[in-house]
Amino acid sequence: MRTEVKDFVLTVDRLTVSFDGFKAVDDLSFYVEEEEIRVIIGPNGAGKTTVLDLICGKTPASSGSIKFRNKELTDMAENEIVHAGVGRKFQNPSIYEDLTVFENLELSFPRGHGVFGALVFKRDKEVMDRVEEIAAEIFLSNHLQQPAGLLSHGQKQWLEIGMLLIQDPDLLMLDEPVAGMSVSERVKTAELLQRIIKGRSVLVIEHDMKFVENIAHRVTVLHQGKMLSEGSMDHVQNDPKVVEVYLGH
Ligand code: ADP
Ligand code: MG
Repeated sequence: MRTEVKDFVLTVDRLTVSFDGFKAVDDLSFYVEEEEIRVIIGPNGAGKTTVLDLICGKTPASSGSIKFRNKELTDMAENEIVHAGVGRKFQNPSIYEDLTVFENLELSFPRGHGVFGALVFKRDKEVMDRVEEIAAEIFLSNHLQQPAGLLSHGQKQWLEIGMLLIQDPDLLMLDEPVAGMSVSERVKTAELLQRIIKGRSVLVIEHDMKFVENIAHRVTVLHQGKMLSEGSMDHVQNDPKVVEVYLGH
């Protein structure tokens, strides 16, 4: 674990959401640093995806606070949270299958918020360069003119990560990014995350423990909406509370 003290990018404090009285996330607090890769693990139904839904504004919190830098996210709309610098990838890739890889990335390029920015958008050199730069990062330089629908499942996952990266988010949230990937694709994804962490923070939900071990700076274990354990992979793996929850399933 790193010893250097950095600022917190994300501060989740006593966060709770209740669905008809059922607390899917229950009084949860955790803090993510600059350039940290934090992984959230936990059994199915632990509330992992709901935590990301709360942070990105898809689900309103019942109580508690989510601070991103100095902004309170629980007061903000989903699109405002994106503009503040939070990018979120869902469990299933949401790409345009009929468009090429290039076009998918181009569409995600931030165009400014003005009417003119949105309407008079040209495929200028800046966009071309940025698309090519991102394509290289996500191992798709040789697939730019291919329809996204023809990519492998793993390549589709990378494309969606690229569609977030092109917006240069300060906090990138990924829900099970290596699900359905081959072993070599998992290794490349770990390498990708370690490369893109410069200047940002990453929050990942993942089940693949080998992958978690490869990438996590810290691990937060969720169980029934509450934090069960937190620390290095080594620490949580040897925590009797964690062992009990995983062996009990
Ligand atoms: P995980 O991602 O850890 O598997 P989830 O966050 O998807 O778990 O779900 C946690 C619990 O909250 C589950 O019991 C799920 O059924 C419930 N849940 C999630 N979203 C909603 C919702 N919008 N309405 C009602 N219950 C929900
Ligand atoms: Mg989930």
